[in-house]
Amino acid sequence: MTARILDGKAISAAIRQEIAADVAEYTQQHRVTPCLAAVLVGEDPASEVYVRNKQRACEKAGIQSQLHRLPVDASESDLLTRVGQLNQDSQVHGILVQLPLPKQIDETQVLDAVHPWKDVDAFHPENVGLVVQGRPRFLPCTPHGVLQILHRSEIAVAGKQVVIVGRSEIVGKPLGNMLVQRGSELGPQAVNATVTICHSRTADLAQITRQADILVAAIGQAKFITADMIKPGAVLIDVGINRTDDGLVGDIDFEGVLDVAGAITPVPGGVGPLTVTMLLRNTLTAAKIQLA
Ligand code: NAP
Repeated sequence: MTARILDGKAISAAIRQEIAADVAEYTQQHRVTPCLAAVLVGEDPASEVYVRNKQRACEKAGIQSQLHRLPVDASESDLLTRVGQLNQDSQVHGILVQLPLPKQIDETQVLDAVHPWKDVDAFHPENVGLVVQGRPRFLPCTPHGVLQILHRSEIAVAGKQVVIVGRSEIVGKPLGNMLVQRGSELGPQAVNATVTICHSRTADLAQITRQADILVAAIGQAKFITADMIKPGAVLIDVGINRTDDGLVGDIDFEGVLDVAGAITPVPGGVGPLTVTMLLRNTLTAAKIQLA
């Protein structure tokens, strides 16, 4: 058996076309162009690349983008002031604070300060709570990308054993919260999973991952998940992005599992492109909310 490759790039391109059409319709109807403001503190090379990608994607979708730069030694209060100004600015619909932030700044304070209606990353506690309760305002971008890949690859989730390795606030936890819901805008088959979330304190991890019909790796360790840790035929979603001497690799040993897995997302070209795509979707949603 050779695993089916789930082409995140193609899925992402299809969704971006849909979003661009929706943005064009919205802009024409309301004479308002959705606008995303990115805030970048310092000059971290990876963050620079991420922000540039997001800006380019906005442009292609017909969404305006702004970049607000602060120096690497900016204080928490400087950043909070900037976020406050963007909260007040009626031309700005979505605010994205690029992470990680320099050590002198408390990330939680800053993310909590973003207006919940402009919180296109869905990190604000109000938006997290709405996701947990199954009535989301914004869906968190990377987990939403995972749901879209599965849905558009016609892989049903309902009733499946889904194991997520990683419990971060950005990926693992929100993804678990979404997959366990009774319903979703993608229909009941896209959710209703039986979810297990693992982490670094999980005992006998391989014994749990081997139960998974769908295994999601969001760990941040190159090629951590190996063939002996998966059930034959399992669907593998690799969220990891690790920079190594061999270039970008995921958290799953891609070549090693190809003969065992049923399907797998590659790195790059899997979940990554979907994250930016879902950010575009949230920016349009933010513009709609603020118009109402
Ligand atoms: P994170 O905040 O560092 O969390 C990593 C998680 O993995 C933690 O919950 C940690 O457990 C767990 N973990 C670490 N070592 C483990 C081990 N040996 N066994 C079991 N669990 C272990 O990372 P993140 O922000 O979720 O990101 C994870 C990966 O996804 C990274 O490579 C990141 O670059 C990538 N990422 C990709 C996208 C995308 O768009 N594709 C978006 C976001 C992140 P503890 O909680 O116990 O420490």
